[in-house]
Amino acid sequence: MTSSTQLAVIGGGPGGYAAAFRAADLGIQVTLIDEAANPGGVCLYRGCMPSKALLHVAKVLTDAREARAWGVDFGEPALDINRLRSWKNGVVDKLTDGLGQLSAQRHVTYLRGRAELCGPTSARVAGADGQVTDLRFDHAILATGSRPASPPALALDSDRVWDSSRALDVPSVPRSLLVVGGGYIGLELGSVYAALGSAVTVVEMAPGLLPGADLDLTAVVARRLEAVCAAVLLETAVVGLAEEGDGVRVTLQGPGVEESDQRFERVLVAVGRVPNSEIPGLERTGVRRDRGFVVVDGQRRTAEPTIFAVGDLVGEPMLAHKASHEARIAVEAIAGRKTVFEPGAIPAVVFTDPEVAWCGLTEAQAGADGRAVQVCRFPWGASGRAVTLGRPAGVTKLVVEPKSEQILGVGIAGSGAGELIAEGVLAIEMGATVSDLRLCIHPHPTLSETLMESADVFFGQSTHTYRPKRTR
Ligand code: FAD
Ligand code: NAD
Repeated sequence: MTSSTQLAVIGGGPGGYAAAFRAADLGIQVTLIDEAANPGGVCLYRGCMPSKALLHVAKVLTDAREARAWGVDFGEPALDINRLRSWKNGVVDKLTDGLGQLSAQRHVTYLRGRAELCGPTSARVAGADGQVTDLRFDHAILATGSRPASPPALALDSDRVWDSSRALDVPSVPRSLLVVGGGYIGLELGSVYAALGSAVTVVEMAPGLLPGADLDLTAVVARRLEAVCAAVLLETAVVGLAEEGDGVRVTLQGPGVEESDQRFERVLVAVGRVPNSEIPGLERTGVRRDRGFVVVDGQRRTAEPTIFAVGDLVGEPMLAHKASHEARIAVEAIAGRKTVFEPGAIPAVVFTDPEVAWCGLTEAQAGADGRAVQVCRFPWGASGRAVTLGRPAGVTKLVVEPKSEQILGVGIAGSGAGELIAEGVLAIEMGATVSDLRLCIHPHPTLSETLMESADVFFGQSTHTYRPKRTR
């Protein structure tokens, strides 16, 4: 079959489907290509959405356990793993079906199959049904995403060693689970299995969890993880895996390691992701790669003028909302609009319990750059709302340019931080000062007040904290 389209989008994740939908909304004829039955990509099928569904279950379990201290005892939860899995799969189906419908309503041509590039304006799509489509296009957007990294020392071909996709299937609740990597996936899925009843050990080779995030934020989640996990081992690397009995023998290396060989029932490897840039036929185009990522300019145009690229394929941070925003930029550039990708703040949220979220300049980055900043913190123990929720552990912080008083960065650790951080993004993008934030009336009692009060702290005092005045 031969076909032609104005825009071919390869990959149906948050980069690809957002691009296809935006293009259709601008009146561009679009063909969206992915193997799955519906758009969604990693995020919907084996990433953001299934993990958040399971994290919600984990939160319910934790809240129910903690309610004992408030005089309400639900008893021991009875876990039906098959129902849990089918509920989670139902969430995924509902969301991906919805995207399929939105795609059809916009008259996006959805081609199910794998694409191979034949040149700067043509591709071949091999469908699962054996049908081959030769497609000519004016422009293409590559949005082929990423996959789990699998370094040789951790690449044991065994169903006892899971990657994130396998862990999201909840094949079992192992008695003991080693999580290799204390990053986003390790902490989110480690929290899920800890709540479901596994004895979880997290091993992170860096000196702290979530490398790159500020320590005062990660400390909040680290304290809680230490309480719910069997162990959290920092500055420790996993250097070998081997099947042993019905489990896995793990070799650990690090200054504090007492027992280098340990045995776990299952191992989850979550040590980062690599871009899917080995797109067949890419060499027939002028598209360039650097360290695995496709190289793009500010409009997400590759070195081949007809071809754009977005999402995990083009670099960090590998986040769904970054991919979707890039998609918008690329499509608008194709439509001839004056546009560029230059966000002031890309929010990061780790959906652990409690959540950790930050955007803009971090205190660590300011320190590394030798940039003078003023940091103001509001502890959640002083937030009435946090106390009513039984979650007083948390902090909201602002990273401020001392002279202009402009807010450069926001960090939040605590329940619901992921929802709260959007206000920080707005403040940074709007060039808000601490006075702007301080003078916005925030609803009471809410956790959002912690943003307003952290702005008050900048000026010395906030209503719900007290710092004694210095006396001579
Ligand atoms: P992807 O979503 O990876 O989609 C790429 C698609 O392209 C895939 O469907 C793939 O099959 C398809 N494809 C590849 N090659 C071809 C080809 N040749 N032809 C046709 N199709 C092809 N991010 C967040 O922002 N928030 C979260 O809470 C979050 N949670 C996550 C949890 C987990 C467990 C994981 C693994 C990731 C999570 N992420 C999260 C990251 C997020 O999933 C990615 O950043 C996002 O999916 C990237 O979107 P994308 O469009 O670049 O690519
Ligand atoms: P990550 O980069 O977040 O964390 C990987 C961690 O593994 C790092 O801290 C690294 O130091 C550690 N590590 C590497 N090799 C190790 C070894 N041999 N032993 C011990 N530790 C080791 O990667 P991830 O958790 O796999 O997630 C991949 C990406 O997916 C994230 O960076 C993020 O972009 C995205 N993601 C986002 C969310 C979210 O937005 N909530 C959730 C999940 C995933």
